[in-house]
Amino acid sequence: MNIAIVHNVTEESKKVAKKLTTMLQKEAFNLVTSFPDIVISVGGDGTLLSAFHRYAHMLDSVRFIGVHTGHLGFYTDWREYSLDELVSSLKQDTGESVEYPLLDVEVKYRNSNEIKHFLALNEATIKRVDGTFVGDVYIREEQFERFRGDGLCVSTPTGSTGYNKSIGGAVLHPRLEALQLTEIASLNNRIFRTLSSPMVIAPDEWIKIKPIETDDFSLTIDQFVSNEEGVEHLEFRIAKERIRFARYQHTHFWNRVEDAFLGAKTKLNE
Ligand code: NAP
Repeated sequence: MNIAIVHNVTEESKKVAKKLTTMLQKEAFNLVTSFPDIVISVGGDGTLLSAFHRYAHMLDSVRFIGVHTGHLGFYTDWREYSLDELVSSLKQDTGESVEYPLLDVEVKYRNSNEIKHFLALNEATIKRVDGTFVGDVYIREEQFERFRGDGLCVSTPTGSTGYNKSIGGAVLHPRLEALQLTEIASLNNRIFRTLSSPMVIAPDEWIKIKPIETDDFSLTIDQFVSNEEGVEHLEFRIAKERIRFARYQHTHFWNRVEDAFLGAKTKLNE
């Protein structure tokens, strides 16, 4: 089995990655950087996002594992003190995995035939800081509303606990096949009216956004930013690709949410 390890720059992550490398080599696993069967990220959710983008061209053949060196993350299951258990699970691997939806973003330009595609694990956002972003929002091919505000965010179920949550979006269970559209500081007055609440669309629907008046804006794909001009429209749909995690142990999703956002259990009767 070929294994790649991706870690962040903290001393703790470097130490854990080094220890894991030694343990895996002792068990005769091949440590590689190209064409891994398994990618192990050591760090936080941000590290897993980087690992995902590094290997996004080979999602059919790769599975991911997250070792967290900080607090419990959403993409990270393992701790540095359970590395023995992780290595023994890898030795007994039978290819088990759990997979989650990804977001496909298509950008079509006005004065060229060029079409760009991006794949996001968490979300894509359209943002403008220099004035407001104005755009027509379509669900499938039907116009739904005209948006004016700072921007819009389309997130995956696993990305719903990231930026989406900070802007008032709902937390979605990652087994749902859905995308969520969340507004970023929409203007609502007698002239501009938006739904003003997050929307969750069905698997066979897509969101189309046509910029109006505004020619330049930032498009973010997870941690990456692209400055766009001359965009005719953007389409957001569930990608045909999926991310697969090697699943040897399971943390219940709502326990993860509770641990990350609420901390110690709240005793309702106290
Ligand atoms: P960053 O700005 O260094 O860190 C953003 C924080 O978001 C980190 O604490 C990271 O967790 C956490 N995070 C990432 N994905 C998450 C998920 N699916 N659920 C819950 N928390 C998540 O950026 P980064 O580490 O490169 O990650 C980029 C992501 O950060 C974006 O995709 C976006 O979702 C999120 N973000 C959030 C805000 C906000 O909430 N206001 C602003 C910008 C970006 P770890 O500490 O475990 O790495």
